[in-house]
Amino acid sequence: KAKESGRNKYACYRKEHSQFFEQWMRLEPDLRQALSQDQFRVFYQPQIDAMTGQLSGVEALLRWEHPTQGLMSPGEFLPIIEELGLMVKVGSWVIEQACAQAAKWRKAGFPYFKVAVNIAGQQILTKGLVDWVSQMLTKYDISPAQLELEIVENIVVKHADEVTPVLNALKDMGISLALDDFGTGYSSLSYLKMLPIQKVKIDQSLVRDIPTDSNDEAIARAVIALGHSLNLCVCAEGVESKEHQIFLRREGCDQLQGYLISRPVPAEALNSWMLQQAHLLNNNVGSLP
Ligand code: C2E
Ligand code: MG
Ligand code: MG
Ligand code: MG
Repeated sequence: KAKESGRNKYACYRKEHSQFFEQWMRLEPDLRQALSQDQFRVFYQPQIDAMTGQLSGVEALLRWEHPTQGLMSPGEFLPIIEELGLMVKVGSWVIEQACAQAAKWRKAGFPYFKVAVNIAGQQILTKGLVDWVSQMLTKYDISPAQLELEIVENIVVKHADEVTPVLNALKDMGISLALDDFGTGYSSLSYLKMLPIQKVKIDQSLVRDIPTDSNDEAIARAVIALGHSLNLCVCAEGVESKEHQIFLRREGCDQLQGYLISRPVPAEALNSWMLQQAHLLNNNVGSLP
């Protein structure tokens, strides 16, 4: 097909293709060992209450400390993990890390906040997710109310019959569910109404061009209103500027997450951030991000 549409395009397609596979071939053997070699890390990014600035939760984000290439983001290796069939293993590892960390934070006396973990389609479709999560809560003695799971809508739309009972079981356990990257996919309103979710996360692509793009403003405004009309908590991702924050606050968005507040950081770095934040809030110093 690419060939028919002209030589240049074909060459371009081939180049991208081969670069992709080169990287893949390079990373695959390393990736197979990454878990046993203890090279994965979990970073955490805060989500704050848009009005008070108080910490509402943190999102766990996977990183790979590659021995030679350094710290890598999920965009660079998650597709390979999925293709190798390692997503369930790695995903379970992330859930366990997040539960262990949540227990540490609670024992250290930090005020209550949720720890959110991204769940891939393969994980939801694998039997035993609910039991595994339940085991982890027991093992680390944390309340289900401390855990939030983030799902993307395409998996829900594609496999509604299999996914819905799993989500209902998680909800019945007391775990909260958030719909991630909201506004980018099918966004079928009937699904939104049907799903046992408590939160939608406005995708960063819709936040990025606020306030320069009036269409994006209108969409963000509509998404917030839609979420609220369904009684959902609305969290905006990719909040990078003061302008984003001002707009989202004014529109009644409930929670903010993004570089303006903090980048994703290791747990220890988040501890310092939390202490500093608590100090600022207590002393009412200026206006907080
Ligand atoms: P996501 O769940 O939508 O996570 C938000 C992404 O936005 C993260 O990218 C985060 O670092 C980035 N981000 C946060 N604030 C800002 C900002 O202000 N500006 C910009 N430009 N970006 C911001 P990250 O960590 O690279 O993760 C990418 C995606 O990989 C995640 O998107 C999620 O879908 C997936 N992912 C990450 N960790 C896991 C995991 O443990 N399991 C699964 N299944 N997926 C994961
Ligand atoms: Mg997420
Ligand atoms: Mg997202
Ligand atoms: Mg995303």
